[in-house]
Amino acid sequence: MVRTTRVPAALALFTALIGGAGAAFGVAGCGKEGSPPRKGPAAGTLPDYRVARGFRLPASPTWTRARKRGHLVVGAKEDQPYLGERDPATGVYSGFDIEIARMISASLGLAPKTVRFRTIASANRETALQNGQIDYYVGTYTINDNRKRLVGFAGPYYMAGQSLLVRHDENDVHGPQDLAGKRVCSAAGSTPYQRIRADYPKAVLVAYDTYSVCVDNLLTYQVDAVTTDDAILIGYAAKAPGELKVVGRPFSKEPYGIGVPRGDTALRFAMDDALEAREKNGDWKKAYEATLGLSGVPAPTPPPIDRYPAS
Ligand code: GLU
Repeated sequence: MVRTTRVPAALALFTALIGGAGAAFGVAGCGKEGSPPRKGPAAGTLPDYRVARGFRLPASPTWTRARKRGHLVVGAKEDQPYLGERDPATGVYSGFDIEIARMISASLGLAPKTVRFRTIASANRETALQNGQIDYYVGTYTINDNRKRLVGFAGPYYMAGQSLLVRHDENDVHGPQDLAGKRVCSAAGSTPYQRIRADYPKAVLVAYDTYSVCVDNLLTYQVDAVTTDDAILIGYAAKAPGELKVVGRPFSKEPYGIGVPRGDTALRFAMDDALEAREKNGDWKKAYEATLGLSGVPAPTPPPIDRYPAS
């Protein structure tokens, strides 16, 4: 049967790529012919973020604690290609969100190489910020009013939109209107999951902690589509060329913010300043081009910072 012979090969490919077993980006110009495959940006292409000297933010309890500790603890994703990936062999995190976290650390006066990353799933972000497990969170985190009741957001620093990922041979799904009766996978606690539940109730929703488990389920014909932000899906499609494709147009706006403890307005405003400065001095663009830009999408203009008042 075609399925049983095809699927393990596809899954093995995907798992190996995501698992960091020496993966190459499937993008032209990433390496000379015959050069060894590599994972993530080449050394030397990432910006060196200048650390703010003598920076102080005593009004921020989060910053004060981190300063005493000597480093920041940042929540992130570990299985989202180009955005937040953890190499299982070395434990090193890479991607656009990781670069945002590092440039912010530099602006807060703490050397970017000292940042300690912790993987936190979509459903656990608010709790992790509320109980002090992390100082801030950078991981495809959409700013919205519901979440603003629980945490604060600096930014936005990027604008994504919800989209759909299907198997390459799928011809019936072109947009969310085609999901009736289809099994659709997303991450628990995510805005894409909530939007399908609210606006497309005829879809059969399946939730897991992470999108990479959804993608495994897609490759093994357990689900018919994976839905989340286009920025995330494009990465999975690029890592399994010929197996997966992103279809249709984005059908939401997902402004990515840096999650901070809700009451720490001083920290939030300092991060807004930092983002603005890094967008102005070219660091944001360099970071984008060395990470998310490898998916082939040129650097967009970042969305305006929304310095909303403390409530
Ligand atoms: N941006 C969406 C969200 O924050 C989806 C991506 C994610 O789950 O991190 O819910």
